[in-house]
Amino acid sequence: MTRKFLSSLSVLLILTLSIFGTAAAKSKTEITGISAYETSGNILRLEISYDGELKMENISTRITGNIFSIVLNNTTPGRISRISGTRIDDSAFVKKITVKDADKNSTRIRLILANALDESACKISIQPANRAENSSAKVIVDINKSALRKIDDYDEEDVQHFKAGDKVIVIDAGHGGSDTGAVGPTGLTEKEVCLAVALQTEKILQKEGMKVVMTRRTDVDVAGRGALNVGELQARVDKTPPQANLFISIHCNAFTNPKSHGMETYHYGASAEGQRLAQLLNDELAKFGGLTNRGVKAANFYVIKRSKCPASLIELAFITNPEEEKLLADAKYQKKVAGAIATAVKKFFMN
Ligand SMILES: [Zn+2]
Repeated sequence: MTRKFLSSLSVLLILTLSIFGTAAAKSKTEITGISAYETSGNILRLEISYDGELKMENISTRITGNIFSIVLNNTTPGRISRISGTRIDDSAFVKKITVKDADKNSTRIRLILANALDESACKISIQPANRAENSSAKVIVDINKSALRKIDDYDEEDVQHFKAGDKVIVIDAGHGGSDTGAVGPTGLTEKEVCLAVALQTEKILQKEGMKVVMTRRTDVDVAGRGALNVGELQARVDKTPPQANLFISIHCNAFTNPKSHGMETYHYGASAEGQRLAQLLNDELAKFGGLTNRGVKAANFYVIKRSKCPASLIELAFITNPEEEKLLADAKYQKKVAGAIATAVKKFFMN
């Protein structure tokens, strides 16, 4: 009885708060609806309804590969903000729509498309409210579907759209030189897999306009032959320039049981940004690998603990597992892994 009374009281409170909330936000334009659909004219149309004033100069857009984002300044997402991750089921082109406050004064809407997009494919216009037809004012984004390009795995062309300017990424290929790292059943060494993936990652990130610092680009001990383990690891940390944004260390897992399998990513426990990076890397690597996802974990590994910037360590797969060793040796697979790492890096900076 008491509980029932309390819950109806809290409903009343919420209602009252939302009424005051609406009244207080009235000065700001409110986004009242979003829809996406395909027109007969080969157009994918995004309609954003709003209540209040909105000018073209309040609208900015950005295209990053297959992500189209539009930011509406001096607006509030209002109740629309609850529509997060909406799927448009009848469109083969739109995978997801997300809405959130970009900051206190603007709303950001993102279309996650099935295909990459060129800037020239989008046309934006404002359609005023029509009182006679009882339709609200709308921002209309028309995307020419013929300009959507197919994405086959991680095409290097797709990532060129992202201009990361001054971002500096440190890529650490695990082991090297006198230290082979783990060795697979056919003799594949961890150090060669890490280097191959690291070099591919460097290539893709550079194409995106980012600066890449490699802890090693050849089969060497970074601290010099004979250095103690800690010295070797510190030498990798020391390669990080002061302006570095991210540190990513690439490794392969190993275990005595050849059945152990899967991929996992690590961050240093106290680093929230490191955790975000590890999560993004994990998400991207899980997308295509077909490997068991062992998740995102916290650890005190030397390089991520001592890193001067947000850091993550990746265990790509178990080199001691015969099937995963085969994958790790495959140049095509290495390239896919590198593409996933680059995508995660890109997403890190998009938030
Ligand atoms: Zn290792």
